[in-house]
Amino acid sequence: MDTIVLKARGKINLTLDVVGKRDNGYHDLRMIMQTINLYDTITVKKTKTPGIRINNNLAWLPKDDRNITYKAAEKFLKEANITSGVYIDIFKRIPVAAGLAGGSSDAAAVLVGLNKLFETHFSKKKLMEIGLEIGADVPFCILRGTVLAEGIGEVLTPLPSLPSMHILLAKPNISVSTASVYKALKVDEITKHPKTDEYVEAIKARNIQFITNNMDNVLEDVTIKMHPQIEQIKQDMLEYGALGSMMSGSGPTVFGIFPSRYKAAVAAEYFKNQCGLREVHVTSTFCKAKREGKRRERR
Ligand code: ATP
Repeated sequence: MDTIVLKARGKINLTLDVVGKRDNGYHDLRMIMQTINLYDTITVKKTKTPGIRINNNLAWLPKDDRNITYKAAEKFLKEANITSGVYIDIFKRIPVAAGLAGGSSDAAAVLVGLNKLFETHFSKKKLMEIGLEIGADVPFCILRGTVLAEGIGEVLTPLPSLPSMHILLAKPNISVSTASVYKALKVDEITKHPKTDEYVEAIKARNIQFITNNMDNVLEDVTIKMHPQIEQIKQDMLEYGALGSMMSGSGPTVFGIFPSRYKAAVAAEYFKNQCGLREVHVTSTFCKAKREGKRRERR
């Protein structure tokens, strides 16, 4: 095998809490992350010529060592003592700098892909350790599913898979730098924290009503102050029938959980045609248990 094609899926945060700040500037987080079915397609090939080459479908996205997948390939090849070259093609669908971990997921897919391509047999744990050197969200993007993430995002506790839910993503036509949001956040002044422990119990009990009513993200107020249109998108989603709506990660993407794909699609048309949003996607939550069940059936 000298080529492998992978799906690099994005994520949303059902909850996001900041519980402290470390001396090195990193924040201590508690968040429930959920993989979604919107994905970038990653093709990884072995090449005869050494070196790492990258291509992608967006004219402005770096194709050199500034692309996060370059770092992933470089670290993997070094760790595995491999000197041959690789070519990585990225077809992006996940909005960039949007709070959906698109870059982290691309990096995760490259690590998983190279491990298969070169038959290195690194364990998932080892791949997650390499991933953490690239970015705090990369280990989660390797694990996938419904997960409680703590520490800087690397202490991961898998939770039972949620039933498949219809998700609408609407990104305002702006980019938000994660660093600028954390810089503006005053950790000591956070008065209302997400009910993370209760939320975990609700996921275990498959209590969908609690899940849609109690989504909470302490970064929302910070990003909304910078870009008030985020609040308007949230309100519009609820008016169009979302059971719950929230900003993902540091934003600016807003997601809504809808009772049907049809309702999500009607709202999507509104955001695209009436509000002029360029990046609007109807997708669903990724159900890891279902995927693993299918794999067992195939064996
Ligand atoms: P997170 O939710 O982890 O904060 P994000 O969705 O906010 O992620 P990304 O889309 O991962 O942000 O990208 C953030 C920055 O990384 C962008 O400025 C982009 O130029 C750079 N970048 C490098 N490689 C990639 C890639 N493969 N995909 C997306 N962005 C990339």
